[in-house]
Amino acid sequence: MVTQVVQQSALVLNQNYEPLNVCSVRRAFVLVFRGKAELLAEGDEPIHGVDAVRFTSPSVIRLRDFVRRPLPHVRLTRREVFARDNNRCQYCNRQDGDLTLDHVIPRRLGGRHEWENLVAACRSCNHRKGGRTPSEARMRLRRKPLRPVATPGMLFARYMDHYVKWRPFLRGWVERRRGGRPAEAAAAGGD
Ligand SMILES: [Zn+2]
Repeated sequence: MVTQVVQQSALVLNQNYEPLNVCSVRRAFVLVFRGKAELLAEGDEPIHGVDAVRFTSPSVIRLRDFVRRPLPHVRLTRREVFARDNNRCQYCNRQDGDLTLDHVIPRRLGGRHEWENLVAACRSCNHRKGGRTPSEARMRLRRKPLRPVATPGMLFARYMDHYVKWRPFLRGWVERRRGGRPAEAAAAGGD
């Protein structure tokens, strides 16, 4: 029915308005068409069907039934570690464009490649620390590295610049925290 593949994305909210995921406009359209979701915000471009029929393209939809799902994880990548650390060296606190990833306990000493053992470090601090532990190198971490809590804000904040219409639906969730873990290290935007 829908002849034009639309490249834009749509935001899917759970029945309780919590942001769930991002899908193609086409998929969102099908969910609304089948009555599985309601349309909350329209996109700018209509979808062209056959016979010059135009459909409203969904930009934000809300599922009619509540979907349970496990807490999403933030993927462990350099970028996400730097984001958690507000792009600051965790030893000297400098905001450096040339950050490196430091294993707090070096791998050769059994340090693991995990959130709790990875921090952003500027090149000179990383060099100074060498293959030592912080105490061996007489260096102190600004804060304890923690696994970030995957808040909808963290997961969806990057869309807020591009998808203006999503903002009202995401904004309330950006500050909200899920789970019981300390979240100071995960605060989006930071200090
Ligand atoms: Zn540094």
